[in-house]
Amino acid sequence: MNIVLIGAQGSGKGTQAEKLTSSLGISHVASGDMFRKAFDEKTELGVKAKAYTDRGELVPDDITVAMVLSRIKEPDCARGVLLDGFPRNIAQAQALDEGLKDIGRQIDVAIYLDVPREELLKRLSGRYICRANQHVYNIYANPPKVPGVCDLDGSELYQRSDDKGEAVQKRLDIFFNETVRLLDYYGSQDKVIVVNGNRDIDQVHTDILNQINAFMERKKKG
Ligand SMILES: [Zn+2]
Repeated sequence: MNIVLIGAQGSGKGTQAEKLTSSLGISHVASGDMFRKAFDEKTELGVKAKAYTDRGELVPDDITVAMVLSRIKEPDCARGVLLDGFPRNIAQAQALDEGLKDIGRQIDVAIYLDVPREELLKRLSGRYICRANQHVYNIYANPPKVPGVCDLDGSELYQRSDDKGEAVQKRLDIFFNETVRLLDYYGSQDKVIVVNGNRDIDQVHTDILNQINAFMERKKKG
C-alpha cells in the first residue's frame, strides 16, 4: 500500500507517520530525511538539489520527483511507502503518478490530517526550545514549571526564528493555498481520507487505521 500523508506543520504528521508505518509494515519516506541523505551521500540528484538549496532556491520538481521515485524503487519500499512532506503541489503529484505508473505502482490513498489553522498557529507559535539540550516545550500544551527555564537542565528557553508569528503565518499560507489543493487532485481519483487531527495522538492513529480498513473494503467491493 502506498500512502500520501497530507498535513500542515504542527498537525502531528511526523508522529502519525511513524505510528502508521510501524502498524502497516511499510516504509516512511520523509522528504526532509531523503534530501539530507542524498546530500550526505553526494548522489547525482543530491548534488544537483544542493546547488539550488545553497542558493536559497527551491529544488525543481523534476529533481525532487526523481529522488522520490528512486527511493521508492529501493527494496525496503517493496511492501509500500508512506510519503511525508511530498508531493507539495499538484504538479508534483501528477509527475509522481506518471513515474509510479511506469513501475507498475500507484498511490492508493491520501490521508489528510485536518487541524484548524488557529490550532496550528497555537501549536507552532507556542514552541520553545532549551539552549542546552534542545528540549521542546509548548507554552500552551506543555509549559515548563518556571516560565522561560528548562525543567530538565535549567537552561534558557528560546523560540526558533521560524516558529515566530510572521514566519509561521507564511508557512501556513503556503500550506493552505497550495498543498491543500492536493485534496482536490486525489479527491478526483476517489482516494482521500480526512481525519480529524485535533485529538490526542492515539485517537487519531486508531481513526486513521479504521478509515484505511473501511476504505480498502469499499475499494475491494468496487
Ligand atoms: Zn533542557
